[in-house]
Amino acid sequence: MRVFSLRAAALLPLSLLVFSCEQETTTEVMEIETAAPRFLDLPAAKGGTATLGKSADGRSVTVAMAEYITAADSDEMGNTVFFNNRGNKQLSFDFVPGQSIDGTDAISYYVDETRPSDDVPVEVSTDAIVRSMDTWNDVTCSDLSMFRVPNNGRATGFYSFLFGFGGSLDYVADVVHNGWMPAQFFDRIAPNGSRSILGVTFTLVFIDNNGNILDEDNDGKGDVAWREIYYNDRFNWSDGSGIDIETVSLHEAGHGLSQGHFGKAFRTNKNGKVHFSPRAVMNATYSGLQTEIDGTDNGGHCSNWGSWPNN
Ligand SMILES: [Zn+2]
Repeated sequence: MRVFSLRAAALLPLSLLVFSCEQETTTEVMEIETAAPRFLDLPAAKGGTATLGKSADGRSVTVAMAEYITAADSDEMGNTVFFNNRGNKQLSFDFVPGQSIDGTDAISYYVDETRPSDDVPVEVSTDAIVRSMDTWNDVTCSDLSMFRVPNNGRATGFYSFLFGFGGSLDYVADVVHNGWMPAQFFDRIAPNGSRSILGVTFTLVFIDNNGNILDEDNDGKGDVAWREIYYNDRFNWSDGSGIDIETVSLHEAGHGLSQGHFGKAFRTNKNGKVHFSPRAVMNATYSGLQTEIDGTDNGGHCSNWGSWPNN
């Protein structure tokens, strides 16, 4: 999908006058057309129940959605993928009080240290991920009582297990940072995924015996079992510069806590650069270091979690 292709006829060019003390230039700024969500089947689902996992208490879960963020220079925009097309039904999902498999309404998370990045020591990447989780936990409108499940070397990753990249169908925590995956893992999510996707968050949902997504609190949203976050090891990750781990982790953890993408993307034709309005952690493309929660990020978070666990 070439979402950056110029569809001039369909877009209204915006002219922006840029003044400097010496000259006046005109720069064309184009809004980037939002790509339609993608729909994918889980290949193993064709035979029936192969994609179903049973949690420790016997509840069945499957993968419902993935949201990915792209690199700024990748010529692709971040997007949403829905698995096992259900038409217009249940395209959004949230956690439900009293439904967590660990039996608490506190939000648990786990950092899998068995899939470290090639670029930085695992202690450094874990610290960055923990800082990003603390940032969300510290938003004052919500009381997530977030806690980290201690690393114990277990295999994690429902989605990675389905596609032969190792892992486990078992629940580990509400939000799991599953680690750094080889580039080809991301080609299963989108064309050119290995070259464009920095990170992805999968939403796993509870299903009944017929494969229907449960909505036990009748809020029109499917009930989340847990979420899984994977990082693309093809990119050069770092702590505080380049592709900054904390920045991407903060974005993915936003998805982990039920936020979608936010902000309109614009491309400056002259230099090809993309920027977002407003700039936010939840923008669909990486745009440099961003480790603080912004106004819109804060608003999105508070609308999801402000009354938790009483919603
Ligand atoms: Zn994203």
